[in-house]
Amino acid sequence: MIRVSHLSKRYGDHTAVSDISFHIEKGVIYGFLGPNGAGKSTTMNILTGCLSATAGEVMILGHNIEEEPMKAKRHIGYLPEIPPVYMDMTPREYLLFVLEAKNVPKKDRGRQLESAMEKTGVTPMQHRLIRNLSKGYRQRVGIAQALLGDPEIIILDEPTVGLDPKQIIEIRELIRELGKSHTVILSSHILSEVQSVCEKVLIISGGRLLAVDTAENLARLLSGHEKMHLTVAGDAAKALLLLETLPNCRIAGTATLENGETEITLRPLSDCDIRKSVFDLFAANGLSLLEMHTEKASLEDVFLTLTANPDEKEAQTE
Ligand code: ADP
Ligand code: MG
Repeated sequence: MIRVSHLSKRYGDHTAVSDISFHIEKGVIYGFLGPNGAGKSTTMNILTGCLSATAGEVMILGHNIEEEPMKAKRHIGYLPEIPPVYMDMTPREYLLFVLEAKNVPKKDRGRQLESAMEKTGVTPMQHRLIRNLSKGYRQRVGIAQALLGDPEIIILDEPTVGLDPKQIIEIRELIRELGKSHTVILSSHILSEVQSVCEKVLIISGGRLLAVDTAENLARLLSGHEKMHLTVAGDAAKALLLLETLPNCRIAGTATLENGETEITLRPLSDCDIRKSVFDLFAANGLSLLEMHTEKASLEDVFLTLTANPDEKEAQTE
């Protein structure tokens, strides 16, 4: 669907995107994952023809975005980082305006309008002023706008940024639903968001593509970076000796807390759930385990792994 080859973008002497290549397959939900300033928005702006590249090529269903922008753009619906919604219009007025701007034939406008509003849940709010809608609803209007023109590919730049937790859950659900009928690319700096919504993940940092992998493989890569924190009362030295005998983890640190209890940090080996063995070990030896919790790997952990172990990189280039 999309083929990106050796894409670069420089602003003056600052390189925002550096020699990125990847391809996007039909019917998959992709996530661009990277911290702020990674180059996600720049890449999306180039894919959608809103910004021109310094070097490289973008092909959308066989059309070069620079050479045949109209033919290429027809296949893409885009929700930029700052949604282009007009506060003094109602969703209905605004979407009709977008239908006209996108040159959708008059006979198709009514159907597309109703369908986009229906899919994004905007229908009940269609006659209110956009300025009076919640941020979650404004974002829905932004997504409805992307759906107009019936594009096969939907590109959403940080679609959940600035929303409250309930709105975030609803927008993620909406994106999963869109993924059933569209190829979707979204960007996010939140690891768990990309893991929960996307099937494939492109990890971008410092303008470079560090990895392309399935969300599943990413989770496997990360499971080696979980930490487990135990709070132990009583004989901590004995607890440590016993924990050393567990085959599936290593001790990453210990700290004595103000109240005399000890916190022990363990690093489970990849794919191992050690909670039961830890619990049983303490119970069998009469030691008190007051608390046990797992700390998930962070985005920083992923970047550290990917930059430290070139072997684990699987950047899919062509
Ligand atoms: P992301 O969306 O991942 O946060 P961006 O693509 O917005 O990253 O930005 C990538 C880099 O390019 C950043 O270092 C940013 O400061 C820089 N940048 C983005 N837009 C411009 C611009 N118009 N002029 C100069 N530098 C820019
Ligand atoms: Mg951005």
